[in-house]
Amino acid sequence: MTLTTRPRGTNDIGPGQIELWHKLEEKIRQVTSAYGYQELRTPIFEHTELFQRGIGEATDIVEKEMYTFLDKGKRSLTLRPEGTAPVVRAFVEGKLGAGSLPVKLYYYGPMFRYERPQAGRYRQFTQFGFEVFGSQDPLLDVEAIMLPLELYKSCGLSGFEVQINTIGCPACRPSYRQELVEYFEPQVEKLCASCRDRLHRNPMRLLDCKVESCQEVLSGAPQITRHLCEECSEHFAQVVDYLDALGVDYKLNHRLVRGFDYYTKTVFEVTSSELGAQNAIGAGGRYDGLVEELGGKPTPAVGFAVGVERLLLALQGQDKLKAEAAGPHAYLIHFGGSTKRRAAEVAYFLRSQGLWAELDYLDRSIKAQMKAANKLSSKYAMIFGEEELGRNRVILRNMRDGHEQEMDLQELEQLAKIIGECGQ
Ligand code: AMP
Repeated sequence: MTLTTRPRGTNDIGPGQIELWHKLEEKIRQVTSAYGYQELRTPIFEHTELFQRGIGEATDIVEKEMYTFLDKGKRSLTLRPEGTAPVVRAFVEGKLGAGSLPVKLYYYGPMFRYERPQAGRYRQFTQFGFEVFGSQDPLLDVEAIMLPLELYKSCGLSGFEVQINTIGCPACRPSYRQELVEYFEPQVEKLCASCRDRLHRNPMRLLDCKVESCQEVLSGAPQITRHLCEECSEHFAQVVDYLDALGVDYKLNHRLVRGFDYYTKTVFEVTSSELGAQNAIGAGGRYDGLVEELGGKPTPAVGFAVGVERLLLALQGQDKLKAEAAGPHAYLIHFGGSTKRRAAEVAYFLRSQGLWAELDYLDRSIKAQMKAANKLSSKYAMIFGEEELGRNRVILRNMRDGHEQEMDLQELEQLAKIIGECGQ
């Protein structure tokens, strides 16, 4: 059974689906290059400590969701559950901030979290994310919202909502935390076990608890606004100003706090009306303290991560980003023996020109080969008949209109040109 079943919470992405992934990946490359980001590929696993320190010990991810193992050298390693801590590690280790600032990096690849699988939530999933280092400019917080919006729009997605909030900085949070604890303590009986557990360790995390029975208490919770220091307050005001100036539709959500300890100031999340309970299609925020926390020079930063599977689910729900499987440029039909050898030669030539050439490997009848060409939606069939080959010619059949012409095999370039011009 385990031989033929994939592990829970994982997916195979094959023909019929992979075309959409390729299209989306193309869009990601376009939008990141328009915003001046360069790709950074980090290892799939890192030292466990990186995530413990980076994400924070009192978070769901570190407490319950990491795929952690000892390697044969007894080192504790963890399959990356997110991309920011590894990018920061690489930024510090590779001294990527030594040149001109800001530094803009993006990543794309699998992440691993031991979560309860459901629609849109997997144990291995894919994130496209980006990080920009070296500036406190609120315009960069805005850019971190604009870039994913550009991606969503360029895919044709509609019905998404941007939520933003500020969660302050280490200077303003302690008094807010205190107020939250004082607010929650007298009502602790009404809270779920997880909220009770976190009340003293990480009271801000209670704010985004989704458990029904906690909602009444949560809706009356104090907001951070009056605790914000001047800098955080001014920063957020500027973010909002820029968003307004750029005509971005967003909602202020005072209960948006995010599941990572590293965020400071602005946090944001984008949800899609197309999805069910797992409706976040991307999220991010500013994290001005993380580079230093992970051993680098104090460097402000902001980033965002898009959940690729969820984005594709939302797009499929709206029937967007369709990718039709392309067919071969030419299907080379042969009669075996020397005709097969000649067809193979021509196929290799066409392929060397970047054209998709198929031929029969099953010694099928001509009729069956023609059927196969049709089934693959081949644009042309080339028939390598013995008589024609004797004259160094083949029959080229346009599969769309049935038009046939004889072509000279001396002029392979000309043949490739005609076949290539049909597009795919
Ligand atoms: P996070 O790294 O938790 O901020 O998540 C960023 C985005 O990744 C979310 O908005 C989701 O779109 C996606 N995501 C997070 N966890 C999962 C998961 N277990 N399965 C699928 N997508 C996920």
